[in-house]
Amino acid sequence: MRKTLVAANWKMHGSAAQLRTFMAALQLTEDAEIVLLPPAVYLSYAVQLAPAGLALGVQDIGTAVSGAHTGEIAAEMVHELGGRWAIVGHSERRLDQQEPDDLVATKAAAAVRGGLAPIVCVGETLAQRQAGHEQAVVARQLDALFDRLDCASLVGGAIGYEPVWAIGTGETATPAQAQQMHEFIRGLVAAEDGPAAQSIRIIYGGSVKPDNAAELFAQPDIDGALVGGASLQAEQFSAIIAAAGSARD
Ligand code: PEP
Repeated sequence: MRKTLVAANWKMHGSAAQLRTFMAALQLTEDAEIVLLPPAVYLSYAVQLAPAGLALGVQDIGTAVSGAHTGEIAAEMVHELGGRWAIVGHSERRLDQQEPDDLVATKAAAAVRGGLAPIVCVGETLAQRQAGHEQAVVARQLDALFDRLDCASLVGGAIGYEPVWAIGTGETATPAQAQQMHEFIRGLVAAEDGPAAQSIRIIYGGSVKPDNAAELFAQPDIDGALVGGASLQAEQFSAIIAAAGSARD
């Protein structure tokens, strides 16, 4: 049985004061794994403030362990400070920093090397979906990942399906659209490693809110959510956590 995973991607939002307010009001559940991914500069402070049961991580990592790579941070450094998770391949980085599939895959491998569980994001743009290419795009992104990392290494982490057209737009994939892609992704993992496909969590991201979370979590291949905007306020994020807690009742 896969434990539901709900991760908060704060992107470049937040402050020390917001972290204090958030941590004081956050309601967790034992029935789901909950992760907060604040901007990396706040990681240590977040680790100090976090209630038991809340794991921390970062939104990106570099590929090296150390060296002359100005501005980069290593998975090993994140781990030393108490981080346990890293997003890699978020569409904002794929687009804004032009991160190619191969680099994303290398970052996923670097996360695993450094003891972090990766959340590897994949997803198509609106134009790609309108052209009917959404499965081909996601398959290409995952092929690059499977070239660098065996699926068993991803079992502690997750694949995040995030249709680019649904991120921060208020437009959510319908539960049926999301389920269809999650089932497709699980099939791709199964073609590599059958047992891993049953254990790997495939989480959905794209305008998840308290009022649409339960319906998404009810889908058989949706194992949780990567939440952006609705994760910034503890009350909203806690409502999504509560929906995750009752998802597999
Ligand atoms: C995200 O940042 O990964 C995300 C899904 O954002 P939002 O929930 O705001 O669409």
